[in-house]
Amino acid sequence: MSDQPTATRSGSFQQNVALMLDRALKEVKLEPGADRALKSCNATLQVSFPIKLRGEVRTFTGWRAVHSTHRLPAKGGLRFSPTVDQDDTEALAALMTYKCAIVDVPFGGSKGGLCIDPTQYDRDEMELITRRFARELARRGFLSPATNVPAPDVGTGQREMAWILDTYKNLYPEDINYVGCVTGKPVDLGGMPGRLEATGRGIQYALREFFRHPAEVQAAGLQGSLEGKRIIVQGLGNVGYHAAKFLQEEDGARIVGIIEREGALIDERGLSVEAVRCYMNEHGTVLGYPDARFVDKGASVLAEDCDVLIPAALEGVIHKDNAESIRAPLIIEAANGPITYEADEILRGKGTVILPDIYANAGGVVVSYFEWIRNLSHIRFGRLQRRLDETRGEHIVSALEMMSGEKTPAWMRENLIRGAEEVDLVRSGLDDAMRVAFQEIARFRREGGRHLDYRTAAYALAVTRINLGSLDLGAY
Ligand code: GLU
Repeated sequence: MSDQPTATRSGSFQQNVALMLDRALKEVKLEPGADRALKSCNATLQVSFPIKLRGEVRTFTGWRAVHSTHRLPAKGGLRFSPTVDQDDTEALAALMTYKCAIVDVPFGGSKGGLCIDPTQYDRDEMELITRRFARELARRGFLSPATNVPAPDVGTGQREMAWILDTYKNLYPEDINYVGCVTGKPVDLGGMPGRLEATGRGIQYALREFFRHPAEVQAAGLQGSLEGKRIIVQGLGNVGYHAAKFLQEEDGARIVGIIEREGALIDERGLSVEAVRCYMNEHGTVLGYPDARFVDKGASVLAEDCDVLIPAALEGVIHKDNAESIRAPLIIEAANGPITYEADEILRGKGTVILPDIYANAGGVVVSYFEWIRNLSHIRFGRLQRRLDETRGEHIVSALEMMSGEKTPAWMRENLIRGAEEVDLVRSGLDDAMRVAFQEIARFRREGGRHLDYRTAAYALAVTRINLGSLDLGAY
């Protein structure tokens, strides 16, 4: 029944990233040998630790890879997944380096992974395991507001970040900046309102910016605005859900397909993202969702006809064996590395436009940057700010009700309050970061008569910036 797409990739994830980089390096002039420095990870910590659970000792293995330190702290998510390994972690750390450079966030790149299936453990067990992992990282200098700052990723969220923060705080109470040792925390613990949905929001802002450039839109074989565009999203986790929801509710896009673990839902009239997510929350699956056609070979839906395809699940889902069949003229990579190098070559050959992960899903780290700065500035966090913002939201709701003479529906009310809460703090900064980065990539790809694809241009731009940073430092 399960139709989890399996990665059909020649070479490891890291080799795939290196190949993408090599393509871009042809466009950049570097010191001899500097390409090797760009490809290798600065340091990778592997830890294995035993924990006694349910009467037996279980051993867990995890990694934290630091790809670059030309800026500190090194930044990137912490992934809890049964498939994660050292190679994935190092590849993902490299992507973080390029991502931060693209959106001009002054961080190095890092990533962590713990090989675990979180669904097999209860809350208390997960707390024990997470705290132990955090201790292992912190004691070896791989967790600190000054040098290495994790964030949520696949299998982790605000809850895990809170446990990590508390573990670090107890280990190093004298570190005045302890709150900044992780980002993506709950708002009441120093997190940033809007961080939770930031990556999905970033996807929305990236697409909006793309559609503001008619020549780029036309080159993709599309026209007009996002309004009415037919979108297929793979993965309704945090990133996919928020991206699809915002695009549907705020830009009038039509979500015609949602691909999930057990299969896909299709409805040409448009699926309600909110209703599907509610159903999943209740039943733990999309199986049995009443208002759509169900396709049990979910991955085959990647190749269905649509205007925009948003892979928002895992790496390697579009590979050499299915790339040819992809019909979407525009793909935006909400996940990290969803398209293998070989698939990328095939798609480019077909003229498919790809907005690459290192640009498209950078919204998370942009807002992490805002969170980290705010933590370091010791501005009071949480409740007071939130309450003020919520009050402003309430004002907007009552103003609307006054004008229309009608009661605001609950969903709209929630959106308005959330909107007001985010608006000053996060949205404009994130929007600005995504717009500027898009314009820089778009300029770079055509500069001097070049005609590069977005990925190659994004990598080349990132490398140019990182190289300058390293030269300034005298790192080579
Ligand atoms: N895990 C996210 C990513 O892959 C966020 C990283 C961060 O905020 O540090 O970009």
